[in-house]
Amino acid sequence: MKDTIKEENTQSNESNTESQNENESESKVLEFFEESSKGKSPNLSENLILFNNLTKIDGELEEIEEVKGDLPEKIKTLEGKVKDIENKISVNQIKIKELSNEENELGDENILSEERMEKYDEQKYNVRSNKEYDDIMKAIDSCFEIVEKNEERIKEIKTIKEEMNIETEELKTNDEEVKKELEENQKSLNELNIQFEKEEIELKNKRDEILSKVGAENKHLYEKLNGTYKGEATAIVRNGNCSGCFNSIPPQREIEIRSALEIFTCQSCGRILIDESLIKNVS
Ligand SMILES: [Zn+2]
Repeated sequence: MKDTIKEENTQSNESNTESQNENESESKVLEFFEESSKGKSPNLSENLILFNNLTKIDGELEEIEEVKGDLPEKIKTLEGKVKDIENKISVNQIKIKELSNEENELGDENILSEERMEKYDEQKYNVRSNKEYDDIMKAIDSCFEIVEKNEERIKEIKTIKEEMNIETEELKTNDEEVKKELEENQKSLNELNIQFEKEEIELKNKRDEILSKVGAENKHLYEKLNGTYKGEATAIVRNGNCSGCFNSIPPQREIEIRSALEIFTCQSCGRILIDESLIKNVS
């Protein structure tokens, strides 16, 4: 345990050196870490300061997300589109194959029927009775009906196949277009990711470090609020108002918030409330 603390402390020192030239409030954050890792367990006002620092970090992370804008969402939509189009193409291809099989079977059946018709045609000259002749003529008729019916269906299949082939070609063109758009968006996002990667990793590491100090229950509270108010989970109490929703806070509650013996959330917006004096004392 001691080793872990020590390690964290070293890390803090390292990042402290790295971010020396960054804004002042950040270096205050690190100073605070060093102090707390020397064995002082955070009291509630320290917890509130941690929350305040988390909010700053999440605010910066949110800014990065805003620069990335709707690219991640757009990429997701385009990926879904590509999947849909490619599904349709494969469904079409299966249907076309089935139709081709049917067409072939009907064609084979027609060849057989025509062969039979030829045979019957020869037989009809060798009949020995009118009944035999009638039977042969009936058989020829039924073969003829089969051929006619099949030809009609073959014609129908050819039309459907033609339409489906056109549709498939259109889908393939569309697929190419969407894929190209997807690729361009992915490229843009990758570039932004590379640009912000280092910053994001640093912020996330700092975030994890602070979160490890606030305790499970507080972590849950903070994460829940940060999920709703990205980068604005805490609000400052200034002139009796919540800086998040600008609703007024009863004077008695304001005093309680200032004394920081409990963690209070805004009755209107739910944000964690921090008295301005607490932050001023730190910075
Ligand atoms: Zn509020």
